[in-house]
Amino acid sequence: MTHCANCDKTILMGGVKEPESDRRFCSAGCRFKDFHTKFEAAMAHAVADDPDPLPAQGPAAKDEGPPLDDFGASMVGDGAKDVVIVGLGLGAASAVAILIQTIYSMVHFEFFSLTFWFVVPAGAYLCGMLAGLGFWFALRTFDRLPTPLTWATALMGGALAYVAIYFCLWWGLEIEGKLMRDQVGFIDFLRIFLVNQKIQVGRGAGPVVELGNWGYARFGINLVGFALGVVTMVAIAGGKTYCPKCRRYFKTVGTQVRTSIDPETTAYQLHPVIAGLASGRVQEAVDLHAASGVPGTKGYWTSSVVVEGCPGCGRHHATLTATVPGEKGVDHVEGFRFLGTTDLAVQISA
Ligand SMILES: [Zn+2]
Ligand SMILES: [Zn+2]
Repeated sequence: MTHCANCDKTILMGGVKEPESDRRFCSAGCRFKDFHTKFEAAMAHAVADDPDPLPAQGPAAKDEGPPLDDFGASMVGDGAKDVVIVGLGLGAASAVAILIQTIYSMVHFEFFSLTFWFVVPAGAYLCGMLAGLGFWFALRTFDRLPTPLTWATALMGGALAYVAIYFCLWWGLEIEGKLMRDQVGFIDFLRIFLVNQKIQVGRGAGPVVELGNWGYARFGINLVGFALGVVTMVAIAGGKTYCPKCRRYFKTVGTQVRTSIDPETTAYQLHPVIAGLASGRVQEAVDLHAASGVPGTKGYWTSSVVVEGCPGCGRHHATLTATVPGEKGVDHVEGFRFLGTTDLAVQISA
């Protein structure tokens, strides 16, 4: 049994070993506890030493790479495009509703109404995201930002698609050779289905609870969850950088990831990168970032540069962010986000 060299917590298993000293820590956060303080102090030093760290004369602009593809700029008017987007979005949502019902008829497990702690509609939300793929694809393909019409149809269409799952179920259900729809109407079927739902509490062989009227609440929660899943895909599609001049979505040119464990070196290497981005010398900033740290994510501090370009006018954006290992997965370093913009082409190596 060992103890963390920093916080003295007992380490039962795992932990992080420091190769040079053989000391053990309970987490990467504990081993690099002083990283941020040291990093900020070193960055302040670097800025004070040399406020303008780039060479006075930048290198000549590099040749533009192969032209980005030009798909999406068609002759169709914007209004017509928005109607087509809504049509494709609703079509895909209906297709997914039929698919969900088909799978349910085979496996008899209500994955589309699976909830956590009764109130988190995880299954419905994920199925909703699947149903929203049509909206995502259509918005990106036609290079349109979501309009109020898109948002409204995604929300309403998502809710209707969730009801459609039960509608398809009712339509196809046969009991003892007789079609259910010949016996009861859809609304009655839905009422009976929801009120007679049984859920198992807890994992494994927990008690089975009959929901009764709570079935309506569960249905409502799932309906909202599914609709929000569809809306999420609209938000993801519209969340990408958009060129208002060309009315095109930017395309990702590349991502570069570098990692390190030394706060001082990292600060001195990233200072000119940040200065390059701030002054619009984006290619130089990207090249300096490429030479910093080591490729990958194995160290403590991991910085990423993402370059995006407008296929219309060639405007390029580069965004520098950083992450550190967190309690669960990675944490974004708050406040460490720098954006550079240029009208020149930018090339980026992995
Ligand atoms: Zn510790
Ligand atoms: Zn543009």
